[in-house]
Amino acid sequence: MSLAFRLRHRFPSIQMDMAFEVSSPGVTVLFGPSGSGKSTLIAAAAGLLRPDECRIEIDGRLLADTGAGVWLPPERRRVGLVFQDAKLFPHMSVTTNLRFGQRRAGYGKDGATGGAQFEEVVDLLGIAPLLTRRPHTLSGGERQRVAIGRALLAQPHLLLMDEPLASLDSARKAEILPYLTRLKTALRLPVLYVTHALEEVIQLADSVVLVEAGQVSAFGTVSEITARSDLKLAQRDDGGALLLCRTAEHDGARQLTRLEGGGASFWVPQVDLPLGAALRIRVPAREVILASQPPEGISLHNIVPGTVRRLTAEPARRSVVVEIGLPSGALLSRVTPDAVVRLELVQNGPVLALIKSTSIEVVLA
Ligand code: ADP
Ligand code: MG
Repeated sequence: MSLAFRLRHRFPSIQMDMAFEVSSPGVTVLFGPSGSGKSTLIAAAAGLLRPDECRIEIDGRLLADTGAGVWLPPERRRVGLVFQDAKLFPHMSVTTNLRFGQRRAGYGKDGATGGAQFEEVVDLLGIAPLLTRRPHTLSGGERQRVAIGRALLAQPHLLLMDEPLASLDSARKAEILPYLTRLKTALRLPVLYVTHALEEVIQLADSVVLVEAGQVSAFGTVSEITARSDLKLAQRDDGGALLLCRTAEHDGARQLTRLEGGGASFWVPQVDLPLGAALRIRVPAREVILASQPPEGISLHNIVPGTVRRLTAEPARRSVVVEIGLPSGALLSRVTPDAVVRLELVQNGPVLALIKSTSIEVVLA
């Protein structure tokens, strides 16, 4: 199943021409700087803005195909919308706000659609203690959780979230992200999620669409996109590849856990999850040392063999980002041009990636 999107539109200040196709269900993060066209994509998906040309197909259902004269109005699209600032009804309790979403769907009373049910949504978002409260007594993060719940109870086929955490401080963000992670696994729903915060990409994205100045500069799975040395994402100080992993072995005596992902193994400080649990790791490029021979007599736990897939020079930084192909994934390493010469790194040549277990960021899925 997939979500295919094409949009052409001219505003006085910008010409937009964007196309991508990602798998569905799953969270697709639209990532890009402000003014690049992300909200325009969301508005077109919701049917609130009719672009010059637009085609949107989700799991075989056509929401728009302007070339063929198809343009479903918003109320027929079955989309849920969550914006930066939740507009809850101030005179209604949280429960009534939530029930409003459910009523608007016009079904769900009998639960026949098998979609999100009241108790399930309340539980997933942790809003049971808030049900009798009025919106003005809630914190920003609580309000956003209620807004997300209301959108879900309308039984959408597509959830659109435009910078839902942007107005929250980092403490509130950290508080709400685990709820979004739980939702993501519990609900099998395509989600378009706009952000310019990398932490939300790391935590939530299944697919990533990079948007820049009205264009899509790249799209793919989060592992593919974060592991490409040729994209701007890799040039960030905190750039690094993300790999989807499973717990494969616990070594209780040494307090280590071995993860498998990308066709490779990674030892990390013990993770208290059962074997086979899904999680993500992110390996910052600046933390990955390259070697041509395995070193001896050092504390290192991870010596990961790979193949040099691409070398991208960063002249301004006097560094090179090396893309290291694994059996089914890739890592990034930032080194100096001098290291490239000394190790005689060439495309398709072998290389060892040396990674401290404590440098690996473990992200619970
Ligand atoms: P983003 O959500 O990535 O910040 P937007 O999609 O909101 O970007 O806007 C992209 C650009 O399109 C903006 O910089 C603006 O110049 C232009 N734009 C957006 N909406 C309108 C509009 N209604 N009328 C004219 N120009 C617009
Ligand atoms: Mg926007």
